[in-house]
Amino acid sequence: MTARILSGKTIADAIKAEVAEESAALGFKACLVVVRVGEDPASEVYVSSKVRTAADLGITSREEHFADDITQEQLLHIVTLLNNDDDVDGILVQLPLPKGIDEKAVLEAIDPAKDVDGFHPLNVGRLSLGHASLVPCTPAGVIEILKRSDIPIAGQHAVIVGRSNIVGKPLAILLLKENATVTICHSKTKDLSAVTRQADILIAAIGRAGFIGEEHIGEGATVIDVGINRVTDTADAARFFEGEALVKRLKAIETRGSTLVGDVNPTAAMAKAANFTPVPGGVGLLTVAMLMKNTITAARLRRKI
Ligand code: NAP
Repeated sequence: MTARILSGKTIADAIKAEVAEESAALGFKACLVVVRVGEDPASEVYVSSKVRTAADLGITSREEHFADDITQEQLLHIVTLLNNDDDVDGILVQLPLPKGIDEKAVLEAIDPAKDVDGFHPLNVGRLSLGHASLVPCTPAGVIEILKRSDIPIAGQHAVIVGRSNIVGKPLAILLLKENATVTICHSKTKDLSAVTRQADILIAAIGRAGFIGEEHIGEGATVIDVGINRVTDTADAARFFEGEALVKRLKAIETRGSTLVGDVNPTAAMAKAANFTPVPGGVGLLTVAMLMKNTITAARLRRKI
């Protein structure tokens, strides 16, 4: 079996086109502010991509960047100012925050009505109760990939590896809402591969490059790879890729110092799965698209449109 590749780009482009239409129909420009603290290079790339995409879709957006010696009180004050600014519809504080700043306190300080990441306890609680809420972007993106690729969810066994607050847990709730039978695995799960092999839909959100191998994947499963890991070692790349794909990855390591690999071994998934999301070019692109969608939703709800 050779898996069908589920293109995150095609699906994200469709969602962004819908958001651009909704944005134009609003009659005003929704406004997204992304707060970045410190000099984490990955965060810098993610934030500039979010700000750029928003501008492309007719959403006003800006980055507020602070040095990593900002105090917790100062950061909380910034969040309060943004909460009180009636022109701001969405606030996103890019994680991770530098050591010494309490992420939980900062995320809880964001007005839930402007919480476009969907991480505030009120939004998490609403999601769990099945009430309307701002939904975390990556899990929402996974659901969009499944639905827009015509992959049935209701009645299917979805197995998620990873139970983080930003991916695994909210995704379990969203899949349950779609009537899947959901199993959540984690680092203490016994005989992981025996559980994951039962999945009709297997979702990996672990943070370990190529961890999900052939032994974890049931024949014909849909495999969604949420992981984003930077691989710098050519020997690692050779464990995950073969043929032309390997040549391309080795070249990336030689020229850029690294290549992006998901939590799933792509060669194994291509051989055993029916459907597979690539990394890069899969779930990651949906995360940004869903953030834009959340910004429009937040603007509508808050302004009662
Ligand atoms: P996280 O908070 O570090 O959580 C990782 C989860 O994986 C934990 O629940 C952990 O179990 C589980 N795990 C670790 N080792 C395991 C093992 N050997 N067997 C089974 N489970 C294991 O990570 P995260 O923030 O959810 O991110 C996961 C991955 O998704 C990362 O690669 C991240 O870069 C990527 N990500 C991508 C996007 C996107 O836009 N595509 C967005 C967010 C995250 P315990 O709970 O028992 O420790």
